[in-house]
Amino acid sequence: PSLILKENQGTIGRQPLKNGAGSSTKTPDLSSKYLFVPCTIIKPLDEENSQKSTGKVDGQPFPGPTLVKTIDGVLHKISDSTKLIPVTAPDDHEGVHDVLNLPQISEASLLHTLRIRYARNDIYTSAGPILISINPYVTVKQADGQSIYCEERMLLYRNRTDYTTGPKNPHLFLVADRAYKALMDSVHSSTEMDHLEDEDAVMMLEYHKPPGTVRNQSIIISGESGAGKTEATKIIMAYLARITKRDSKASYNPDGSMIATLEDRVLSSNPLLETFGNAQTLRNDNSSRFGKYIHIYFSTVTGAITGASISNYLLEKTRITSQVDGERNYHVFYQLLASADQEMFHDFGLQGGASSFNFLGHRITGNDIADQEGFKQTMACLAEIGVSPEDQRALFRTVAGVLHLGNIKFEEHDDPSESFTESIGKCRVSDESRPSLRKACELLGLDEAKLEDAILTKVIVINGKSIKKAQTVPMAEDKRDALAKMTYSCLFLWLVHHINLSLNQASEQTKSIQKDQMGCIGVLDIYGFETFDVNGYEQLLINYCNEKLQSHFNRHLFEVEQKLYSDEGVDWSYITFNDNSPCLELIEGGNGIIGILNTLDDAWGGMGTAAEKDSKFAAHLHRLFGKSSELDTSKDSVSRRSHYKHFITPKIGLDKNFIIKHYAGEVCYNVDGFVEKNMETLSRELKDLGDSSSNPFLKAVYSTAGVEVQCSTAQRSSIRGSSVSWQFRASLQTLVSDLERTQPHYIRCIKPNNSKLPGAFAAADILKQLKYSGMMEAIRIRREGYALREEHETFYKRFSLLLGYDKIKKGEKGIVELVRVLSGLLCVTDADWQIGHSKIFTSGKTPHFSTNRYL
Ligand code: ATP
Ligand code: MG
Repeated sequence: PSLILKENQGTIGRQPLKNGAGSSTKTPDLSSKYLFVPCTIIKPLDEENSQKSTGKVDGQPFPGPTLVKTIDGVLHKISDSTKLIPVTAPDDHEGVHDVLNLPQISEASLLHTLRIRYARNDIYTSAGPILISINPYVTVKQADGQSIYCEERMLLYRNRTDYTTGPKNPHLFLVADRAYKALMDSVHSSTEMDHLEDEDAVMMLEYHKPPGTVRNQSIIISGESGAGKTEATKIIMAYLARITKRDSKASYNPDGSMIATLEDRVLSSNPLLETFGNAQTLRNDNSSRFGKYIHIYFSTVTGAITGASISNYLLEKTRITSQVDGERNYHVFYQLLASADQEMFHDFGLQGGASSFNFLGHRITGNDIADQEGFKQTMACLAEIGVSPEDQRALFRTVAGVLHLGNIKFEEHDDPSESFTESIGKCRVSDESRPSLRKACELLGLDEAKLEDAILTKVIVINGKSIKKAQTVPMAEDKRDALAKMTYSCLFLWLVHHINLSLNQASEQTKSIQKDQMGCIGVLDIYGFETFDVNGYEQLLINYCNEKLQSHFNRHLFEVEQKLYSDEGVDWSYITFNDNSPCLELIEGGNGIIGILNTLDDAWGGMGTAAEKDSKFAAHLHRLFGKSSELDTSKDSVSRRSHYKHFITPKIGLDKNFIIKHYAGEVCYNVDGFVEKNMETLSRELKDLGDSSSNPFLKAVYSTAGVEVQCSTAQRSSIRGSSVSWQFRASLQTLVSDLERTQPHYIRCIKPNNSKLPGAFAAADILKQLKYSGMMEAIRIRREGYALREEHETFYKRFSLLLGYDKIKKGEKGIVELVRVLSGLLCVTDADWQIGHSKIFTSGKTPHFSTNRYL
């Protein structure tokens, strides 16, 4: 059905009325399915208005309850039709390429445009410098049946002579190409920029750098799980690799096999990282459980790729030992079980299959075919990045070792011959799980007795003397899990390290041929804002990361806008931006605030179980940042209060929960496990155990991670400087300073529905994501200033002829005159206009100006 509604008849439902008593119409739940759905007014439902409009319902809004019909023919009773949002401009129905070109940009018109475009398979939409991408969940084809990511299309985007010709449809290739072009142009003369279209100009405007300086670029991709970030990253990397591909001669290894080119290695890194760092979750069958930032280096002389490197952030570790119903562990475990050869099966003790391993859960079986294919690809990629056959085997041996660790069980015992300081809760490895212990030790090169000792006891220091303390069954289980997590996460880091080495080697070869200046495009594939029913430590770090990136995003958009206005000689002093630094400081500290993460670091010291420490931590937070903070007596308490506004003490469950008011909304965090997860890297016994491995591969793996134990926990009251959150904070800081030195390009990925279905557009969920992604702030900045801008000449052409004022002089005088006349006709004030050096700026209050069809 056509979505185009006639002027003033089109309305977008927004204010649902619950199924009222006595209502004769069937009222479905408007809140989600019908949010922002186009509808027409059928009739008013209260008597007074009904009588007034007897016999004539012309689609005009009526105050009071009204009957409306949505495009699917369903009738709805709504509370007040004057609260509907009128869709009056044809542009609203067109599904424009760039939503900032809409006459009046609002949540409704943005959503409506996305809906129209998505329905016709236009999954990408621009919002000025930002690309919005909606996951299609199918391979989108162009008219000739080829994928929209085909090579032909890549070349089409690359080979246009300038930005005024060639494909204009927003696309990932367009963003990648802009970044590449901006990088190359930053060292070359940038005369082409004079001919840029409006949308391109927004991107480029602040980058008229003098020749010779390289302006590095970054592409920041965010969105919630399953929104398409990783796919977008791969598509962008494929584009950059393709457009810079050289017909270089193949080189060969001594054994005759071909040496992979740098481009191939860059592309191979993706499937490898996915095998070890992605898993099937309820939200996404191939969910990345870590963040990554890929730097791709280019020669600014030849334009070719000359190197690459990967930084990774916070691999989710709990998944290694347990998963929620319906989710899987990391792909590599299932790949190994689906494809190991006979010898591996035997040597690694895999005969029992996935169901025999506790770490794999028992509720979800692997997809064997996909896992077998995945395994083949993993092996090919490992070879491509130069992992030797021996190391490949050692790598899978470690993976199998982790699985066997999970099958070690403990039981209580009371053997008086043991001389522990505490006799309660002593435990040992159960007899039936001894074979698992043996196998794990064999595969990981560990000594059985040492492993038992490390897991069953804890070294504590009292008065300078080390004493071994017996562990209870749950404590031993926690330590077993910690060892498995440490082993797997070290393996992951080793892999990233190895990929980087391999990329480096390849780039050394390239560099030796050419000594060119280098520029870089960074692609960031990072977790979006998260809020679930229960939010834990991981969500706090992820949302902290999003606050940090949001701050960068806001500042950048604001500065671009400011720059445009000042270049055009237009006043911009009234434009503000939402500074989220108080919330950031609440989390990370600074500006006289200790911050939540430091408080958490401090919570590690002292006596008590982990659960007790979690509760103490929560209580401390409420005392420090809660409304009636008893510590709030200092002189700067006034300035501090702005931080406290972002902290909320919940009415119930305050020993376990605290709430942070993030830019995207309030999130309630449950402190269970916070203290332990935060100090994860600090178990000396486990670190020593890893160092003692007789397996050289494992030794290298454990040392890559650089697990730091600075001093024994008893000597420290705080773990600042080595906690997980501290390290995360440091890596985020590096990331943000790196991004600050680049010209950013933003891609906001949106998940259209929770059922992974093509075509379904769940408007309410989409709106929430647009909010989380900061799109509303971007739009607000635009609306606060002058929402519409047009070149003098285009503006003149459009309006002077239409109004019959063709005698008006061209040039600046003509423009001023035209604006004066139009203002009079449309009854708008001078404040709604600004005449810039090259553009006319009009505020959102002059909607009819934007669309010549109305004049
Ligand atoms: P996570 O945060 O969980 O890692 P993500 O944002 O990286 O999620 P992806 O793994 O990129 O999400 O995408 C999820 C799935 O959606 C893909 O496996 C694929 O099936 C589908 N998908 C994403 N983008 C596209 C696209 N452009 N075309 C077709 N299908 C896509
Ligand atoms: Mg991903």
